[in-house]
Amino acid sequence: MEVGLCATCKHSRTVKGARSVFWMCERSRTDPSFPLYPRLPVIRCRGYETDPSKQPPPA
Ligand code: SF4
Repeated sequence: MEVGLCATCKHSRTVKGARSVFWMCERSRTDPSFPLYPRLPVIRCRGYETDPSKQPPPA
């Protein structure tokens, strides 16, 4: 699955389900204009901020 910007954004968090991984946007907690579960891949996002500790998943 292609994730896009959320993969390296400091506002993203992953939630592991039984068979898949869900990507959550923590910005949705304080700003309802951001979806809790963004539709992937996220190509453009006004809330994106790089988290240098996060690596994009292998293609
Ligand atoms: S702010 Fe944008 S890029 Fe960052 S986690 Fe939320 S939806 Fe993804």
